[in-house]
Amino acid sequence: MKYDIIVMGGGQAGIFAAREALEKNPRLKILVIDKGKMLKERVCPKELTGKCVNCPVCAIIHGISGAGAFSDSKFNMDYRVGGDVHTIVGKERVNEMIAYVVGIYKKYGFEEKPSGERYNKTMLEIKRKCIEHGVQLVDTPTMHLGTDGSRRLYARLIDDLLKKGIEFRTERCLLDLVLKDGAIRGLTVQHKDKIEEYRSDHVILALGRSGAWKVMDLCKKYDIPYENGAVDIGVRAEIPDIVMKEINENFYEAKMIYYSRNYKDKMRTFCSNPSGFIAAEKYEDDVILANGHAFKDKKSQNTNLALLCTKTFTEPFKQPFEYATAIARMASMLTGGKLLVQSYADLKGGRRSTDEKLSRLNIVPTTEDYVAGDIALACPKRILDNIIEFIEVHDKITPGFASGDLLLYFPEIKFRSTRVEIQPNMETRVRGLYAAGDSSGYGSGLNIAAVMGILAARDILAKI
Ligand SMILES: Cc1cc2nc3c(=O)[nH]c(=O)nc-3n(C[C@H](O)[C@H](O)[C@H](O)COP(=O)(O)OP(=O)(O)OC[C@H]3O[C@@H](n4cnc5c(N)ncnc54)[C@H](O)[C@@H]3O)c2cc1C
Repeated sequence: MKYDIIVMGGGQAGIFAAREALEKNPRLKILVIDKGKMLKERVCPKELTGKCVNCPVCAIIHGISGAGAFSDSKFNMDYRVGGDVHTIVGKERVNEMIAYVVGIYKKYGFEEKPSGERYNKTMLEIKRKCIEHGVQLVDTPTMHLGTDGSRRLYARLIDDLLKKGIEFRTERCLLDLVLKDGAIRGLTVQHKDKIEEYRSDHVILALGRSGAWKVMDLCKKYDIPYENGAVDIGVRAEIPDIVMKEINENFYEAKMIYYSRNYKDKMRTFCSNPSGFIAAEKYEDDVILANGHAFKDKKSQNTNLALLCTKTFTEPFKQPFEYATAIARMASMLTGGKLLVQSYADLKGGRRSTDEKLSRLNIVPTTEDYVAGDIALACPKRILDNIIEFIEVHDKITPGFASGDLLLYFPEIKFRSTRVEIQPNMETRVRGLYAAGDSSGYGSGLNIAAVMGILAARDILAKI
């Protein structure tokens, strides 16, 4: 059977693309394919046993609703956070589209007021301290769904799409594209031990961060131009809530950017989770990465946030992906496939952490997926120097941040290195083939993924 649109990857970009197309033209035959399972079948053994058992397809990042389904789902309401598709579409257009997505969230029952819209005295003082210490505070209003709230929202959204006739095929991994005369004609997927072919003249590739490798391979194979972009490498920091109280209560998340003194590298905070939990994400080839999330109802006593160093590479180096993956593998080699954790006191003192030393701290880790050790054995010096400098600067804005009780989970890496060449309509050089969301290289958050998916769908609607 031939479909009007195939959405490859049922995450945020894919779901919002499919919804937009169906809403505007209910007669379309739309198919969404994903490597993972339907949302209701996505069960992580860790939720039952408390331990990661290294499933071949991780239920946290794969499956309908994508990585967003189990994320903290802070929805940033501004083009400056979540990606940089505004560089090809324009800032106003992106903000207009973000507002449209917020409208859709509301239709599916999300009613909470965003935080960070207006500054009070405490917030102004935090901003003043940022200015004093050379930190840029990116002040964008944020809606917070929480991991549980986001699951409820996606469940309603998916039920609606199923009711209206969108087809889903799960546990199918993209193998290849089918091209003819420079245009897309369909694709092949692996389903258990079978290869299946699906046909369509319009395919949206939305494979998320986990599928970025696959997108790069396809670009190489079919001569689709792409660039090596930046890669973000750093740590997930965890600190008692009490230290972050002012920021948490006033901003929920304060996004900070800082350029290190010696190396002039860009450092940023990312995805802060007050009263949240550390997450260990398993990718292919033994890559375990740190992340964090927070529930709306279940709370810990710790805040976690990423401290990331953005690295771009110049000629002749062309493999930022492989570079970052090698770092992650090195950490995984030291821990036997877990996160590497060290207290800030031990890192600064040049000694490894041990479980015994961690038990003397005021903080209790919110995950068991770690091995205490020495981050300096796996993290390149330049990145580690930047992290330490950023922690010290953060301490000036949030006194107590650079304490011995700060836990650092290594590595947290955001792979954004394949930036596919796309037009403002999200179409690649292959006619009918669109790229959206994290795997396009233009997205790194829920807001931009949804915007890109919708833009791709609208272009297809105009052409059908
Ligand atoms: C723990 C965690 C917390 C996060 N917190 C936030 C947050 O608070 N705010 C925010 O804005 N963003 C957050 N993010 C990022 C956000 O989830 C992503 O930016 C967003 O989900 C991107 O949407 P996407 O559709 O591009 O990709 P995804 O949501 O990752 O979806 C991609 C889909 O493609 C499928 N896929 C991949 N490869 C293949 C293949 N070869 N064949 C078939 N299917 C494939 C995957 O199974 C997946 O379902 C978080 C991410 C994580 C992991």
